[in-house]
Amino acid sequence: MRIRRGIALAAACLTAASLCSCAGQKIEIENAVPSSKIEGSTLCVRKVENLPEDFIMGMDASSVIAEENSGVKYFGFDGQEQDVFKTLAEAGLNTIRVRVWNDPFDPEGRGYGGGNCDINNAVMIGRRATQYGMSLLVDFHLSDFWADPGKQFAPKAWAELDAESKAKETKRFVKESLKALKKAGVSVRMVQIGNETNGKLCGESSWESICRIIQAGCEACREVFPKALTAVHFANPEKASSYANYAASLNEYGVDYDVFASSYYPYWHGTLENLGEVLNNIGRSYNKKVMVMETSYAYTGEDSDFSGNTISAGESVKPYPFTVHGQANCVRDVIDTVVNGMENGIGVVYWEGTWITVGTESWEKNHELWEKYGSGWASSYAASYDPEDAGKYYGGCAVDNQAMFAPDGKPLESLRVFNLVRYGNDVSPTPDAVEDVELTVDLGSEIALPQTVAAVMTDNSRIALPVVWDVSAERLAQMSAGGPAVYTVNGAAEGGFAVKCTIRTVAFNYLENSGFESGRLEPWRVTERGSASELYVENKATDSLSGTWHFHFWSSKRNSVDFSLEQDVTALPAGKYSFTVSIMGGDCGAAEIYAYALVDGIEAGRAPLVITSYGNWDTALIDGIEIPEGSVLTVGVSVKCEGEGSGAWGKIDEAAVNSSH
Ligand code: CA
Repeated sequence: MRIRRGIALAAACLTAASLCSCAGQKIEIENAVPSSKIEGSTLCVRKVENLPEDFIMGMDASSVIAEENSGVKYFGFDGQEQDVFKTLAEAGLNTIRVRVWNDPFDPEGRGYGGGNCDINNAVMIGRRATQYGMSLLVDFHLSDFWADPGKQFAPKAWAELDAESKAKETKRFVKESLKALKKAGVSVRMVQIGNETNGKLCGESSWESICRIIQAGCEACREVFPKALTAVHFANPEKASSYANYAASLNEYGVDYDVFASSYYPYWHGTLENLGEVLNNIGRSYNKKVMVMETSYAYTGEDSDFSGNTISAGESVKPYPFTVHGQANCVRDVIDTVVNGMENGIGVVYWEGTWITVGTESWEKNHELWEKYGSGWASSYAASYDPEDAGKYYGGCAVDNQAMFAPDGKPLESLRVFNLVRYGNDVSPTPDAVEDVELTVDLGSEIALPQTVAAVMTDNSRIALPVVWDVSAERLAQMSAGGPAVYTVNGAAEGGFAVKCTIRTVAFNYLENSGFESGRLEPWRVTERGSASELYVENKATDSLSGTWHFHFWSSKRNSVDFSLEQDVTALPAGKYSFTVSIMGGDCGAAEIYAYALVDGIEAGRAPLVITSYGNWDTALIDGIEIPEGSVLTVGVSVKCEGEGSGAWGKIDEAAVNSSH
């Protein structure tokens, strides 16, 4: 997880508190993992078929101790206060993940925050996880604070070391840390060396050095916990070629590891199908186990601790509604993908589902706790180690809306998903959320709002629900008669769901196939005056100004490019009109490129277009074109490239003929 910053605020000077130590007492092992389905849940969970008994159902709970020190209380499903690890075990989790930073404290011993997760913290969490029959998954960042694709700082004490010495220190540190866990009687199931190490680790960026350090950590694990699995961990599975490269590098430098793990955050990390394919390929190619090491999903768009969240209601990629059921369905589908979408999938770990607000009174009160106990993502004391990010943007929890506990410490119903995926929970789906509507309407035409909206059901299916919009016919008529604009109309769907309709009024475009989205040229026509190698309609979203299609030209010989692309518009009401069109491209040399308008074949306007470089679209506008009754308007683009050389190319898109206002 890449932690996003909140708001920069002046540092309050507070004294540090050391973490409470509860070592020493004898641990009673209590196997609380339910062997049967939790009855009475309203969660609509489809069973995950082929789910192995020993599948890793994990929860990263690294910040629990700092949370408890800050006064947070956790409750069981019965509403009574109880050890949060007992509740997690009761919910069907069998593994607790904890991050370990080497030395997350400043010279005065004040914690950097993010749970102040040193090895002592891991021991405390490990003992409690073990007490309730769960195993520990230890996540060594090999840094003094957050390590993710954006930063992989070496620990302070290792700053001056070369890669070989860092590898030696890694072996020593991992070994000592694991011995402390072993001594405390902690059941360790997996050890992860490096966190989201996308091409960097411990301040090193050559794969030879990275692999040497990972290998040292894996060796330490094999010596202390020979039965534990060793894991590597990366982020951004949507970049399949990067993942293939990471796996190939680990192989090339002979790293002896067991599990290739990935983060999967649905807002940023591509589709589940892609995740399955990418991990499956690596698992098969290198004979490795694969898993999702971090995932989470928002159950609300609201923040609860006065410190902004990584994900909020306006998030554009939102495959499930931000509800408790949406969160559960997301987790269910991630588990299903790891079980059935890849051959060697062994587990899913939810990230920081226990990290909730430390208070609901004020930012000031929470800030005091974040600073004192490290329960925010970063304290001001992190400035000495990470001045550019934590030092400026320190604050509270950025994922409290993705937790699986409510702000009051009570477990959300979604937490039961880890148990219910084993059996399925066949309750009747009910409407859970409604999808907002977007309309684009031509100015001057009637605005017809839909009579139903799509309701997302608790099983993630969709039904149509009747809706009543809070807008008068007169108001809609005004919108239609006005200029281009964006309006929001509120509505109420059956069952009391609030819904929004965004209405975009746009000038009517008299051109047909104005952005080539039909996939054909017609009714455009090309007049070829030269002999360009390629002149056609192309389907490539990244080269289109909008949609996925555009008109493409390319030539092996620059001065062979000489053509026009035009369209006739007939039966226009008499009046004034405008024509716009856009172009981009490159390598066109001395070129003469322009948009033009002809009325009954006679030039009525011309506007130059410039081709510069990839992605830099130039838009021409010809305005005030007078069209008498019964005349034909012809609009187009003329492109003529001159000079020696090869490779002149370009893309034309988004043409429009509108009434002038
Ligand atoms: Ca927050």
